[in-house]
Amino acid sequence: MSALDIPAARQLIDGAWVPALDQRELPVLDPANGKAIRPVARGGQADVDAAVAAARRAFPAWAATSPTERGALLGRWAELIMERVEDLARFEARDVGKPLSGGRMNAFIAQGIVAYFAGAADKLTGVTLPTRSPGYLGLTIPEPYGVCAVALPWNVPTLLTAANVAPALAAGNTVVLKPSEVAPLGPLALAELAREAGLPPGVFNVVTGLGAEAGVALTSHRDIDHISFVGSTATGRAIMRAAAENLVPVKLELGGKSPNVVFADADLDAAIPAIVGSITENAGQNCYAGSRLLVEESIRDEVTERVAEGMRAVRLGTWDQDLDMGPLASPEQRERVLGYLESASADGARLVTGGAEAEVPDEGWFVAPTVFDRVDPGMRIVREEVFGPVLTVQGFSGTDRAIEMMNDTDFGLLACIWTDDVSRALRVAKEVRSGQVAVNQFHDAGVIGFPFNMQKDSGFSSGGGYAALREYTQEKAVAVRL
Ligand code: NAD
Repeated sequence: MSALDIPAARQLIDGAWVPALDQRELPVLDPANGKAIRPVARGGQADVDAAVAAARRAFPAWAATSPTERGALLGRWAELIMERVEDLARFEARDVGKPLSGGRMNAFIAQGIVAYFAGAADKLTGVTLPTRSPGYLGLTIPEPYGVCAVALPWNVPTLLTAANVAPALAAGNTVVLKPSEVAPLGPLALAELAREAGLPPGVFNVVTGLGAEAGVALTSHRDIDHISFVGSTATGRAIMRAAAENLVPVKLELGGKSPNVVFADADLDAAIPAIVGSITENAGQNCYAGSRLLVEESIRDEVTERVAEGMRAVRLGTWDQDLDMGPLASPEQRERVLGYLESASADGARLVTGGAEAEVPDEGWFVAPTVFDRVDPGMRIVREEVFGPVLTVQGFSGTDRAIEMMNDTDFGLLACIWTDDVSRALRVAKEVRSGQVAVNQFHDAGVIGFPFNMQKDSGFSSGGGYAALREYTQEKAVAVRL
């Protein structure tokens, strides 16, 4: 079997790989050395118009296709993904800079997600409703929205493409996807596999390009029916304003500042490696990254030292060396993270390990795993999403204070609780304002079928499992006089 390939500088519109209408291109850079991997098309308004028109034309037939048949096509897509896991792993690892094993894990999860929605396509049901008087029948019919716009970030592009496109298609919508300009290759490769699986032309379109051009053109397009956005909270606000203009529903999965809270009775042998992994996996560039470590005072020094030791042991390397942690995905991201390190030091935080001066490989956009303690709750390093391998440590005494500190953030994505006390774990799980909670484990983002919920500035969605299928469905209420 030859390697999976995608044509350079082409985007997928109406079933065909086409260049940008004005022939413009963008380079995609390798985070290991800054060199261009390949160009992609730099799509703009005209390309988005063409893709939305193709999706609109394809919609009636796709929506009318039986759910079983839609499921079968998605099932074929999942099979092709399984056959091409290594190719997909390479696209994502090289594009984002993560170790090959990380790319492989995400390709497997993407396969599981597509297979899940292949099976779910014919499980979507309406309900019958009680009526005020006899002689009437009330019922609901689940219906697709129409053309769904999907805009995605660069950190886990393959998985997020599967998680947002597969439920939309399973529910009978057609899709126009705008992947991130930083890492578009995995989504393009997945789209090629969908094409090979036999998805009709126009059902799944991809326009590549910049957020300010193709992204804005897509999310403010007058002829879309739904927006699904995953990315930063700042862009999420802009998208929501665009959605308001056109009055389309919007699903937002945004940033995070997730706490790992460690009580004195926790199993530290399990907690420490998980805490280190939670902030170094994908170089800390995960929305659910465990960037705030809250530790009960009596074990604070021990935990800080053991976590720092774990961070120092993280092996840095390029995607093909397949070690523990790669470079950051772009030079802009590295500058941004280094700016946070400077601000933390200027604000008086104590650097425990890592930092801007720490040794990293010569080439590539690396930042060393970093721990700060003696931080103040008002510091930027504690309040803002850094999106890099940077952890802050704060101490607490007692469960009430732990909950207060966990909730002292604008974000509400994931909270991880480490304790041996079941009733305390459940109390904290109930009182923390977070869309997801993990107890005695770091969140396994790979749980297929688990709702990926958000609260507060992290957005609102249930982008996982059966609820995601509902997210891409509107209900029609029908009342009948018999
Ligand atoms: P970003 O907001 O800069 O960009 C996301 C996407 O939106 C890209 O495709 C970009 O080109 C596009 N875009 C940018 N400006 C736009 C605009 N005005 N209108 C329309 N589209 C626009 O985010 P990023 O830097 O690519 O990704 C990092 C962020 O993503 C982090 O905040 C991270 O927490 C978040 N994220 C969240 C989740 C989640 O499930 N909650 C998952 C992964 C990443």
